[in-house]
Amino acid sequence: MVSEKMKPFMANNSAIRAMFEEGKRMAAIYGKENVYDFSLGNPNVPVPRVNEALLNVIQGEAFNELHGYMSNAGYEDVRQTIADSLNKQFGTNFSFKNLIMTVGAASGLNVILKSILNPEDEVIVFAPYFVEYNSYIRNYDGKVVVVSPDTETFMPKLAEFEEKITPKTKAVIINSPNNPTGVVYSEETLMALAQIMKKKEEEFGTSIVLLSDEPYRELAYGGIDVPYATKYYHNTIVCYSYSKSLSVPGERIGYLVIPDEVEDSEMLIGAATIANRILGCVNAPSLIQKAIKYCIEHDISVDLEAYEKNRNLLYNALTEYGFTCAKPDGAFYLFVKSPVADEKEFCEAAKKHQVLFVPGSSFACPGYVRIAYCVSYEQIERSLPAFKKIAEEYGLV
Ligand code: PLP
Repeated sequence: MVSEKMKPFMANNSAIRAMFEEGKRMAAIYGKENVYDFSLGNPNVPVPRVNEALLNVIQGEAFNELHGYMSNAGYEDVRQTIADSLNKQFGTNFSFKNLIMTVGAASGLNVILKSILNPEDEVIVFAPYFVEYNSYIRNYDGKVVVVSPDTETFMPKLAEFEEKITPKTKAVIINSPNNPTGVVYSEETLMALAQIMKKKEEEFGTSIVLLSDEPYRELAYGGIDVPYATKYYHNTIVCYSYSKSLSVPGERIGYLVIPDEVEDSEMLIGAATIANRILGCVNAPSLIQKAIKYCIEHDISVDLEAYEKNRNLLYNALTEYGFTCAKPDGAFYLFVKSPVADEKEFCEAAKKHQVLFVPGSSFACPGYVRIAYCVSYEQIERSLPAFKKIAEEYGLV
């Protein structure tokens, strides 16, 4: 019954999910508080005022306006509110016409890839990366081209990037703040990427889209600047999501920005609006769209300090125990070097102490593990003796 095209997707089904299921199994045996599950990037810091927004919308909107069909791109007033807020923050010049509300970043990426990819078109990604990109690209018969990781800095390897751009390159995906490393791309990095892409566009006479996947944009610590990618390269499309910044991944809400500077922008916006519909999303969920508008108007956002405290606690402890890890500037992940070459073995050893995290091979970067610190501060504190024992077992302390 299952199609041949679908079978490889099933075989590749995420190790992250498998680990999450393992966590649930262990919690049933040892008790939830004795399992230290750092496997899933599920935001844990509540944003109670989102509920206030939802209630306000339910009470304030007419039934049919709130629950009816709408433009496939989403409510105009919501899109204009987001555009105004982006313009204020980044000095851009967007209007509602440049925005399409999507069913989270996952859907936004699918919408745009469906809109631009021809079979065999190549999409460049920088390892380590969110491997669901592979599935999204293959959904539209594109080819994934991976730039190998720079394990010193986890910034894009520029020389290799330039070599891997071909006349078939249709898009390049960047993700900053990054899952799984937490690094934030500097302005210099964005400028360097832009320069290479422009040069290659001219050399090959092609158009290359820079797809900036930004679900972690607001999760950046110590006041670090997360440059807005559309400022550096004309063919930039931003894929944003509120999953992490408002802790609402289950609500499925985000948007695409297709600026006027993008080549054939009007046609592309039209294509993406139709793609949103024919992929079966039709439009992003209406109630949460309106709630987003309320959140922007009332400055509602997640308490960043909670994640920053988690980062500091875990980073300081792990490095003190002898683990090697670059201090992340954003997102809620630590990307830690495995003390043994096979990081899956390291994950198995940690499991014996009820500590769960994800092998780097799930992000095309073996030899590392991703530890998602979007759990309570107390849970991290309780997990530290287990991390210490693991470090002792590997002779790190
Ligand atoms: N892109 C990256 C880098 C992610 O880490 C995730 C989710 O964890 C997504 C996209 C998908 O986000 P959403 O829940 O908004 O679909």
